[in-house]
Amino acid sequence: MTATSHSPRSIAILGSTGSIGTQVLDVVHRHPDRFRVACLSAHSDAPGLLRQARQERPSAVCLSDPSADPTPLQEGLAGTAIKVLHGPGGLLELAIRQDVDTVVLAVVGAAGLPVALRAAEAGKILALANKESLVAGGALLMATARRSGAEVIPIDSEHSAILQCLRGERREEIRRILLTASGGPFRTTPLADLEGVTPEAALDHPTWSMGPRITIDSATMMNKSLEVIEACELFAVDPDDVTVVIHPQSIIHSMVEFHDGSTIAQLGAPDMRVPIQYALSYPNRLESPPGSYDPAGGPSLTFFEPDLERYPALSLGFAAARERGTLPAVLNAADEVAVAGFLDGHIGFQEIVKTVEKVMEAHRVVPEPDLGAILEADRWARDEAHRLCRR
Ligand code: NAD
Ligand code: MG
Repeated sequence: MTATSHSPRSIAILGSTGSIGTQVLDVVHRHPDRFRVACLSAHSDAPGLLRQARQERPSAVCLSDPSADPTPLQEGLAGTAIKVLHGPGGLLELAIRQDVDTVVLAVVGAAGLPVALRAAEAGKILALANKESLVAGGALLMATARRSGAEVIPIDSEHSAILQCLRGERREEIRRILLTASGGPFRTTPLADLEGVTPEAALDHPTWSMGPRITIDSATMMNKSLEVIEACELFAVDPDDVTVVIHPQSIIHSMVEFHDGSTIAQLGAPDMRVPIQYALSYPNRLESPPGSYDPAGGPSLTFFEPDLERYPALSLGFAAARERGTLPAVLNAADEVAVAGFLDGHIGFQEIVKTVEKVMEAHRVVPEPDLGAILEADRWARDEAHRLCRR
């Protein structure tokens, strides 16, 4: 097909009111000939979803939080052809609708896993921002996609970079993946001062503007732990073949080293709309928002080995990536609860990772879990983490 003969790709944006979701809409608006919005969802922000629905005119929307009141949405869209769904079942319905060919999963948390599985079962193209679904159920999700022929395309900037570095390459020739990390806002803070870090300081990320959970995870580097697991699942590599390297400028989004000693890197401005657009146009490239890296005029690129005393979350991530089974789901669930506990003022910054570690230590790992066992481990880890945060 030529570039002009495409009919627009029909997209469900799940989590459309979030940081990634609104940037997906920005990408769609830049290429109206290429992309069309079919469905939208928000968890509890009914007015936000109503505004988006009025502008985008999708065929269906969903307010996924069962305890949120859908009345304003229903009343606001009365008389239109837009179908209004409510609760987590509605989200599953959006993921398999006939008029959807690409599902952008931009919801936050392990709640994304059942939706990702449903979209993969239905053979949809799955553009995945929700890394938690790969962390909690990567083996299951990738196997489901292989069976149905669904493509899973990462939106996470590091994994988008790896996908690009691997174009035309053979997976057997990978020596290692070099996953870059900004180091977050406390890269140079004296270790003794980390205990007193406030939510406001932790929410102030130096290079990326993101939702609250991933921003806190970037400060502890738990985000990089999730991304190590995500990379292992997506690209079928061993955790021992993944190296995390601190790169404060966030220009190199990741690298792949091959057996002949060559390393290929992907560079660009830290703008999530670029990997979002790549996931939507893959394997093609389209015009992007302005901004690219100028080697002569841009910042110098520096790299450091991460200090595991500063970032103990990294050791937990590698442990979970090696063990697999239900342990990555437990790491993620405990972290979701601990981050919320920190933002609510129940625990200190340093206790986030300590909580996750304690819950992981107490867990009896189930190898090769099905969805039921994963959801059970997730529930158990949340209860344990809540108990620890309340103490
Ligand atoms: P966000 O908090 O800004 O937005 C989350 C969206 O999901 C909102 O639309 C919200 O209404 C919805 N939502 C929240 N809880 C939900 C639930 N339980 N069920 C269904 N929907 C729910 O988060 P974000 O920063 O946009 O991140 C979304 C995902 O993308 C996360 O998995 C994150 O790790 C990943 N990601 C984000 C960035 C970024 O730059 N923000 C970068 C890489 C990856
Ligand atoms: Mg990332």
